[in-house]
Amino acid sequence: MLITQMKDKETILSLVDNKKVFIINCQGCMEVHFPEEEAKAFQKELAEGGNVTGVITTDYICNPDNMKLRLKKYEKAIADAEVILVFSCGVGVQTISDYLEDKAVFAACDTIPMPGFQGVTPLQVDCGQCGECYLNLTGGICPITACSKSLLNGQCGGTKNGNCEVDPDMECGWERIYRRLAMVGRLDVLNCPVQIRDYSTDKETAKKPETEGN
Ligand code: SF4
Ligand code: SF4
Repeated sequence: MLITQMKDKETILSLVDNKKVFIINCQGCMEVHFPEEEAKAFQKELAEGGNVTGVITTDYICNPDNMKLRLKKYEKAIADAEVILVFSCGVGVQTISDYLEDKAVFAACDTIPMPGFQGVTPLQVDCGQCGECYLNLTGGICPITACSKSLLNGQCGGTKNGNCEVDPDMECGWERIYRRLAMVGRLDVLNCPVQIRDYSTDKETAKKPETEGN
């Protein structure tokens, strides 16, 4: 099981930045807790500001084929929006970001692991449930799972011909991130302060049993 927890309102508002926004809610699978009431109240406030071009509330947004069909009838609302705000786990945000790759797609939630069954989805992307989602700084491509070293602050320098030095069969995650940021005109985020990872919210840390002295 995992929990999606809304980022604080100020953070989300700073991402939207008074721009026109299309909202996607995933009330998805049984394995993900969704902050339904909180999200609804926040989105109502946002809509009262007059900048929301449309809202879709659906399930399993991590299924790209389903999502393509479901988003079809929202084409105009999506085209009118400058920002896509996604309320879902990290997998959902990445799926939307892949599909709407020329749009700025933002995660409104952090994904926090809980012990137990993690669910099965038709995954093309992965979320390490790090508890502090960085997708808003990386063009919707997860630096934890797309980079072999889970680097948060850019490329390690070992990339060869665009591929990863750890796994030469894999494209370097940071090459992909750079390309996506360039595509949506957001290379400026690479100038933001250095990211320091909080391992206390991380899935692997959460799995470790308490030991004496910890
Ligand atoms: S940064 Fe990656 S691992 Fe962390 S919550 Fe976002 S998608 Fe998941
Ligand atoms: S080559 Fe790229 S993907 Fe591989 S570890 Fe370095 S930055 Fe990460």
